[in-house]
Amino acid sequence: MEKNIVIIGGGPAGVSAALYAVRAGIDTTLLVHGSSALEKAECIENYYGFPGGISGSELLEKGLEQARGLGVDVREEEVVGLGFGEKLEVKTTEQIYPADAVILAMGSQRKAPAIEGIKEFEGSGVSYCAVCDGFFYRGKTVAVLGSGDYAANERSELEPLAAEVIALEDIDAIERFSGDTQIRKVEFKDGTSLDIDGLFIAFGTAGAGDLAKKLGIMTEGSRIIVDENRATNVPGVYAAGDCTGGLLQVSKAVADGAIAATSAIKYLRG
Ligand SMILES: Cc1cc2nc3c(=O)[nH]c(=O)nc-3n(C[C@H](O)[C@H](O)[C@H](O)COP(=O)(O)OP(=O)(O)OC[C@H]3O[C@@H](n4cnc5c(N)ncnc54)[C@H](O)[C@@H]3O)c2cc1C
Repeated sequence: MEKNIVIIGGGPAGVSAALYAVRAGIDTTLLVHGSSALEKAECIENYYGFPGGISGSELLEKGLEQARGLGVDVREEEVVGLGFGEKLEVKTTEQIYPADAVILAMGSQRKAPAIEGIKEFEGSGVSYCAVCDGFFYRGKTVAVLGSGDYAANERSELEPLAAEVIALEDIDAIERFSGDTQIRKVEFKDGTSLDIDGLFIAFGTAGAGDLAKKLGIMTEGSRIIVDENRATNVPGVYAAGDCTGGLLQVSKAVADGAIAATSAIKYLRG
């Protein structure tokens, strides 16, 4: 019987994996539900081949179109569980997919606290990634919201670029973020405020690890642990992209997807 692969996630990692799997003649299903980090990226300027940049949502759509065009079975279904039957099993809200191999490419949710102004100014001064967007704030004043190692890392990315980097570690002191078409101010509960040109949210990452744990896949926090072949500790299960941690960028997600799929193909061919 023909071997099959089920890939969870329609972002750059999942789509890249699907392109390699389907072109190797493997029956490939791609399950997609919810948003990709890429949808939030206003303009990607650091990915190969797009002079002048490309919007994240356009890049995402082009990827899915390419996958469908090559024969990937793309389905809009939410994955709610993983398990073992005669084969591996991927459970969605609609049905259970038996799979000879599975690639996890669910990205990582970027957490944001519920402070007025954050959601409203996403893409208009609110960013979740210093290495992605720091370049746009050269010589400007930015704030980094969050405490701990991740926030410190984001501040150190911004310091060589921005004129000033403000650490907003005490979240409870903040009343709201305000502005016009762009974020302009952080307003504190004591009535004071600071002018800012940009806000970086640095609450660490969370997500995909929960699903992985259902199969006994090893994780470190929310990050899925993989080897150099993007294999997890469970035979036949691979992971790619942001859900494996490291550099949270399109180029790394695409490379991960290619490596995970080529490893899975070797595994399926014995
Ligand atoms: C504001 C912002 C700006 C950015 N700017 C840049 C930039 O300039 N350059 C750059 O290289 N990178 C940038 N990035 C990072 C880049 O978007 C990510 O690194 C990249 O999208 C990761 O790809 P991925 O496939 O691993 O995950 P994602 O793109 O997040 O895709 C995850 C996929 O999994 C699906 N999914 C999740 N859970 C389930 C489930 N239970 N069932 C089914 N499907 C599920 C989602 O729907 C989605 O399709 C930016 C990110 C943000 C947020």
